Amino acid sequence: MRVLVVGQGAREHAIAWKLRQSPLVKEIYAAPGNAGIAQVADCVNIGVADIIEIADFAEKLKIDLTVVGPELPLTLGIVDEFKMRDLPIFGPSRLAAELEGSKVFSKEFMRKYGIPTADARVCSSIDEAKAALKELGYPSVLKVDGLASGKGVVIVGSKGEAEEYLRLVFEEKKFGNAANRLLVEEFLTGEEVSFMALTDGTKFVSLAPAKDYKKAFDGETGPNTGGMGCYSPAAWLDEEIAEQVRSDVTERTIAALAAEGAPFRGVLYPGLFITHAGPRVIEYNGRFGDPETEVLLPRLESDLLDILVACADGMLAGTDVQWSDDAAVSVVLASGGYPGAYETGKPIAGLDDVEPDVIVFHAATRRDGDAIVTNGGRVLAVTAVASTIEDARTKVYRNIERIHFDGMHYRRDIGANAVAIPAQAR
Ligand code: AMP
Repeated sequence: MRVLVVGQGAREHAIAWKLRQSPLVKEIYAAPGNAGIAQVADCVNIGVADIIEIADFAEKLKIDLTVVGPELPLTLGIVDEFKMRDLPIFGPSRLAAELEGSKVFSKEFMRKYGIPTADARVCSSIDEAKAALKELGYPSVLKVDGLASGKGVVIVGSKGEAEEYLRLVFEEKKFGNAANRLLVEEFLTGEEVSFMALTDGTKFVSLAPAKDYKKAFDGETGPNTGGMGCYSPAAWLDEEIAEQVRSDVTERTIAALAAEGAPFRGVLYPGLFITHAGPRVIEYNGRFGDPETEVLLPRLESDLLDILVACADGMLAGTDVQWSDDAAVSVVLASGGYPGAYETGKPIAGLDDVEPDVIVFHAATRRDGDAIVTNGGRVLAVTAVASTIEDARTKVYRNIERIHFDGMHYRRDIGANAVAIPAQAR
């Protein structure tokens, strides 16, 4: 089969790397890919937002399956474009992807179908928001409705902080129309966990639970990032909670979307808090998590292509998904300054010096003559697999010492608290 992977990060590198192991796959293309993806796929110079060009390419080369990594082409309607042309693709339609785009839509959807979520009020003015804050107290979480480039969620600890943000949103219109409505949401305590499922619109298979780290620095300090590392399995998430997530969140969401006439095919990735009262959904994503994919796919024993084709065809029933008992830890190596301003074009040394079974997924790299150089904020995701999290952790950090680029920084505590979490989670 011929496969096309859309995207250019470590997640897409992991997808292409895993698909390469399938005996059914003959050719893999990536649009646009990066220097690491080029080791396992032919990269074509089409950007992820150019959905018409991507569809033209898939049509011309008679691609048997296109797999979409990032959110942008999904919200632009790449799946609808492919469906219109009868081209096979793995991912949700634009309507289903709307769950990700609007906080108010997704909150109302969860309420309607009894999917456990944080308590919240939908507000259209400062006065309504103030009344909601009086009711819910501090801290509370304020979320503007539409896509706000990751800046639309704040946790406010006091009336002063809340009112300053509300002024920005409703009077200064900092987020434009994205913020005509705003959620005032109950502040949850507990552990966040990633528990994705692959679905064909009716049936689903759960991926193994994984834990990612969003803050830039050790001990969950510093600014938020796209993700600085991850581990799997999250053994502290016991079977009882996992079953609750599968039945109350995953199954209910899939059935609800089908009932709404927008069956969801692809990766259903709810953002979850495990609280004392059980799991609560705080948002939906419709794509593979990054960096979760970089620890999950190395643990997957089944053929990824089989599973993705079954999802795209609506034939997931009976598909077997096997995970290895091993643990995986992935650590992101970032450019100096990330998530703030950073420079690119720094030569990367030591990529070939890691132990043979350590995988270096490229997040943002490009070739410059004979060298591979940095090309973004998150540059590499280094993954090690071993029989325990502790061993995988030791192995990954031992190998990171062999890799270097100017300004490189990374967290030293990925996976360090993997065993300590249960007390907080309960
Ligand atoms: P979101 O864009 O909804 O994923 O929110 C971004 C981050 O804000 C999440 O990853 C959480 O760490 C935090 N957050 C969102 N909602 C809540 C909540 N109700 N309670 C506590 N923290 C939250």
